[in-house]
Amino acid sequence: MNTPDIRLNDNLSIPQIGLGVFQALDGQEVSAIKHALAVGYRHIDTAAIYHNEAGVGRAMRESGVSRSSIFLTSKVWNDEIRAGNTAAAIDSSLQRLKTEYLDLMLLHWPVEGRIEGWRALIDARKAGKVRSIGVSNFLAEHLDELSDATDVVPAINQIEFHPWLKQPEIKSACDRLGIVVEAWAPLMRGNFESEPLFAEVAKECEKTQAQVVLRWALQHGIVIIPKSVNPSRIEENFNILDFELPATAMRRIDALDRNQRIGPDPYNFDF
Ligand code: NDP
Repeated sequence: MNTPDIRLNDNLSIPQIGLGVFQALDGQEVSAIKHALAVGYRHIDTAAIYHNEAGVGRAMRESGVSRSSIFLTSKVWNDEIRAGNTAAAIDSSLQRLKTEYLDLMLLHWPVEGRIEGWRALIDARKAGKVRSIGVSNFLAEHLDELSDATDVVPAINQIEFHPWLKQPEIKSACDRLGIVVEAWAPLMRGNFESEPLFAEVAKECEKTQAQVVLRWALQHGIVIIPKSVNPSRIEENFNILDFELPATAMRRIDALDRNQRIGPDPYNFDF
């Protein structure tokens, strides 16, 4: 089954399900991506700071799937943004990935120097090095700041998003500005088993708990990039297009939001 595409504000589109590769190292990223591409994924999410871009590029080349069929995202790390090195950081990512272009490049966190970093992404897009440009972990105020300072609104804001953390303020700022929300940690980093509701809904739908958690985000129109290096989980996380959560289950899962983060807080981080 083909993954649905989500239209971006630059008229390009992104496959709604991708594979995350944070903490996939030492060849795990290569085997995970090859398996994912073999079972139908067409979207990979990496970052310079994951130190696996070379493996990501190798996996894509060895997969037999054409580069043009794959949607590839990377991210500019904070130190490069702060130092005013975003343009060079994009070139370095392209070199490590051994690819001519990225489908999406993001500023990883809203650090000092972000507006200059954003201008560098705009230039890289003009130069054909990057097709779509966006941000990650940006709060509503940061999004407004970018669209005020330049005439380019990010296509994507990649944020922590799962049933414990729906981030309604950021989501409504993104909706207002036409920015698609992409969820990191969409599987709550595997912590979903502590929430009994998922087992209940999974039983009703004859699906796994992970599939319920991911399907909930999908039905909210969110792009998801679940990470796994385990072949059967890679398949499980992709097989969520053949069922629908009823409205009651959606509402019950919505009610789990308790503003609880699993990862760092964009209001207060020190890296
Ligand atoms: P996820 O919510 O995707 O959870 C990943 C964890 O869940 C891993 O431990 C994985 O283990 C486990 N897992 C995967 N599938 C299943 C399953 N079906 N059942 C049970 N456990 C499962 O967390 P991530 O933090 O990795 O987020 C996803 C992606 O988002 C990252 O890989 C990265 O690409 C991106 N990201 C972006 C950030 C940003 O600041 N922009 C920050 C963090 C992540 P295993 O591999 O052993 O299966």
